[in-house]
Amino acid sequence: MAKKTPQILKEIKKVSVPEINYAFNKNISYSQLSIYSSCPHRWGLRYRDGYKVFEPSIHAVFGTALHTTLQEYLTVLYEKSKAAANRLDSENTLKNSMRDEYQNFYDKNKKIHFSNAAELAEFYEDGINIINYIRKKSGAYFSKRGWYLVGCEMPLVLKPIKNISNVLFGGFLDVVFYHEPTNTIKILDIKTSTRGWGDKDKKDDVKTSQLVLYKKFFAEQYNFPIDNIEVEYFITRRKLYEGGEFPQKRIQEFKPSSGKVKINKSTQLLETFINNTFNSDGTFKMHELEKNPSASNCRFCQYKNNPNLCNKNEEVKNKFSFY
Ligand code: SF4
Repeated sequence: MAKKTPQILKEIKKVSVPEINYAFNKNISYSQLSIYSSCPHRWGLRYRDGYKVFEPSIHAVFGTALHTTLQEYLTVLYEKSKAAANRLDSENTLKNSMRDEYQNFYDKNKKIHFSNAAELAEFYEDGINIINYIRKKSGAYFSKRGWYLVGCEMPLVLKPIKNISNVLFGGFLDVVFYHEPTNTIKILDIKTSTRGWGDKDKKDDVKTSQLVLYKKFFAEQYNFPIDNIEVEYFITRRKLYEGGEFPQKRIQEFKPSSGKVKINKSTQLLETFINNTFNSDGTFKMHELEKNPSASNCRFCQYKNNPNLCNKNEEVKNKFSFY
């Protein structure tokens, strides 16, 4: 017999999230905050000054395709049954999603290839290993006792600073669950990683502020008590270390601290970014933004080989022989 949907879940599903009017509103996201925090000048070039460079990558193709596949699996697991979820042709979903996403990036990349058949096949095989692991262990990661799936790709659109009305924070929550016995919401963010997160990632305040901000904004947007919201990174590993003392799992679960202190810190991070870059009418502040050169920042920067836009990469190259 189908479970009766809890009233609170119906209320959450009824919430209508405002649309962003791109002609009028400025849209900011967690990834903008992340770029600004690493190098304000890089954020300015990309989001303010119009030097947006399209950068296709096999990692992005794989990440999107695996999200689609896992979200389909979880939807069937919670809305039908584990047997039905395990009967899904998830291999095909992954393959089709990777093909579609690759095509999409290839078109946007002026029909220039950015990967090859061998690399695509390797990522696909890694994805199959992750899917098979989740199929086998789904009971350990996804309990159905008292738990409901609220939704996948749930939208968030709100004003982070009330008196800057044109600047809207936008984001999507990968997977949201509700646990009826404890009246708890759990927000899961799926990450694709080569070998998982290390201590450096887990202690990175900017990185973990993504879910902390999502928690705060979910509470505001969906009118749910913030103290009853849990957040967790569900990190999928493409590769496992061989021959370690303990066998590695394909999935790493990480719950960042998300209490009051962390929420205030993440809120401050976001507000500092907005106040430094936008006027109160939502237009950009046009002052020069700080450059923050370092090996880790510049190595993956799309402007590193364009000295007219930023000349700092040369300094970094001269300083670090390994770079
Ligand atoms: S090259 Fe380095 S300093 Fe320059 S914009 Fe990129 S990250 Fe910033």
